[in-house]
Amino acid sequence: MTDLALSYVHGAADEPLLGQTIGQALDRAAAAWGHRPALISRGQGVRWTWRELRDRADALAAGLLALGLRRGDRIGIWSLNRAEWTLTQFAAAKAGLILVTINPAYRLSELEFALNKVGCAALVTATAFKTSDYIGMVNALAPELAASVPGRLSAARLPDLRSVVQMGGPPVPGAIAFDEVPARGGEAERAELRELAGQLQFDDAANIQFTSGTTGSPKGVTLTHHNILNNGYFVGRAMRLTEADRICIPVPLYHCFGMVMGNLAAVTHGCAMVYPGEGFDPLATLETVQAEGCTALYGVPTMFIAELDHPEFAHFNLSTLRTGIMAGAPCPIEVMRRVVERMNMREVTIAYGMTETSPVSFQSATDDPLNRRVSTVGRVHPHLEVKIVDTEGRVVPRGQSGELCTRGYSVMLSYWGDAGKTAEVVDGARWMHTGDLATLDEDGYCNIVGRIKDLVIRGGENLAPREIEEFLFRHPKIQEVQVFGVADQRFGEELCAWIRLREGETMSEDEVRAFCQGQIAHQKVPRYIQFVDEFPMTVTGKAQKFIMRRVVEEQLGLKRAETA
Ligand code: AMP
Repeated sequence: MTDLALSYVHGAADEPLLGQTIGQALDRAAAAWGHRPALISRGQGVRWTWRELRDRADALAAGLLALGLRRGDRIGIWSLNRAEWTLTQFAAAKAGLILVTINPAYRLSELEFALNKVGCAALVTATAFKTSDYIGMVNALAPELAASVPGRLSAARLPDLRSVVQMGGPPVPGAIAFDEVPARGGEAERAELRELAGQLQFDDAANIQFTSGTTGSPKGVTLTHHNILNNGYFVGRAMRLTEADRICIPVPLYHCFGMVMGNLAAVTHGCAMVYPGEGFDPLATLETVQAEGCTALYGVPTMFIAELDHPEFAHFNLSTLRTGIMAGAPCPIEVMRRVVERMNMREVTIAYGMTETSPVSFQSATDDPLNRRVSTVGRVHPHLEVKIVDTEGRVVPRGQSGELCTRGYSVMLSYWGDAGKTAEVVDGARWMHTGDLATLDEDGYCNIVGRIKDLVIRGGENLAPREIEEFLFRHPKIQEVQVFGVADQRFGEELCAWIRLREGETMSEDEVRAFCQGQIAHQKVPRYIQFVDEFPMTVTGKAQKFIMRRVVEEQLGLKRAETA
């Protein structure tokens, strides 16, 4: 067998990697596209040019230094999508701080864990949004805040935290108003900032992101300037972004989809970042695309489904759209086709990746044949290597499925403070083992066929839920479906399907079974079929199958047979 027949690809590229820090990229954007729009946050009435954004980031960076923060310190950010988020991202990078992006859905124990795990010295927090009382939760964890001198907090449960910076709202006692931070930076801090610019290295850590909660315990993925700036740049290049583009970003900033594929693609190509609102809202997204003439739109599959199915969808003029990205979870072919046809996103791409790889490793190209663009995650990204291996670590032949491993500039430094966990996923040759199951075809196009952890093992046979989901999704009454394993005394595991029907439809379990009959192997027909109104999802569009499994097992009293 020749090498060509093995599942190994390298993204040979003419264009070199960027050797810059994020701060240098911002300075370059301000010099090249100074008067062009950089950031539009509709709900806040913010419209800044690249020069304005750079000036504001410099001022905030000086203010952060004045709070006593030093190169390498961790600064947490806990908020939905607001202009201050992005300002903090760039200011932290300029001040040499490591931005710790905290999921706005986190609650007390998760916040405490995240802040302490990486030893945050400062926290920039929102005040409140809908039912989330962010500042109330900070106060609950650190009741000492109210009586503390701003910037000199000493709290028993958050021992490293010194400063709480509060955005949007009158600051509570002990906290510092976000808008007042820049004014704290004087000439000394400005000078320090200029000096830092010459010292910071692109291999310095710039960001810690906690991985999404699809599997349980969060880990702090530590990424450098070089990791994420380059990934943002090459993601943008795959969409052929230029300074004429305006990216609508309804995906969360705390996740790499927003902050890397959105913000860092924008800063390296001079595009505008357009935020439709703090949290995802399909109507606000459609309105924003129309009102701001967006040329690119991002989303996880469920967001695009919500936009396409919105009762007012047909009223919007989306003719400015050209491209965008669907990513984060398996992208149904049918939804991709509707995005191309009904949203005018003729150059839409699919991206695949994970936080630990900055995130993107595969992305379709705008000129890939439509069929490939909707049915695969595209080809390997420039400069990266990917191999698909079997359980023994051997590269499998093309077309055979195995674990996808990625190597190259994009692989994280480490899980913060967790050398053991890092070594479990990044091997001695610097391959990141993703835990995703994939195939590579002869031309290098990749399909994600499942997750190793999702595999259902029924009576010793491996069943891939993804394959069954794709099949059931073809039924016209079915809007969304999730297939997962539940405990079974006899087989170890049995399949269960949760189905959400299209508006106004009804369906019986027997109808689902009849649809499968003769079409898929009998062991792939789910033993349990339940109709639900919604799925437990993370904000980044990932179905939390471990929760579904628990619910069904409790409801049906299912137990695993005892084993040795
Ligand atoms: P995160 O670290 O939160 O970005 O999640 C990464 C995981 O999301 C990957 O390991 C995949 O399981 C999944 N994922 C991301 N993009 C895709 C995609 N295009 N198709 C299928 N799964 C995806």
